[in-house]
Amino acid sequence: MAKLVVDKDKCMACGFCYSTDDEHFSPDDEGYSEVISQDNLENISDVVDSCPTGAISLEEE
Ligand code: SF4
Repeated sequence: MAKLVVDKDKCMACGFCYSTDDEHFSPDDEGYSEVISQDNLENISDVVDSCPTGAISLEEE
């Protein structure tokens, strides 16, 4: 099963992911993205591919 992951070392807190998909992402206190749900990942690839720094990935467990 795939696991949604944000690499905070790559995240630049642009806000794209959590402003377009607040089911899966939420900002931390500094605006960096955190994953808040592993549910309903069927259509997540658009957001994964749209992160400008490539910080979001789906990792196989
Ligand atoms: S889209 Fe990428 S860089 Fe922007 S907040 Fe989300 S994880 Fe960070």
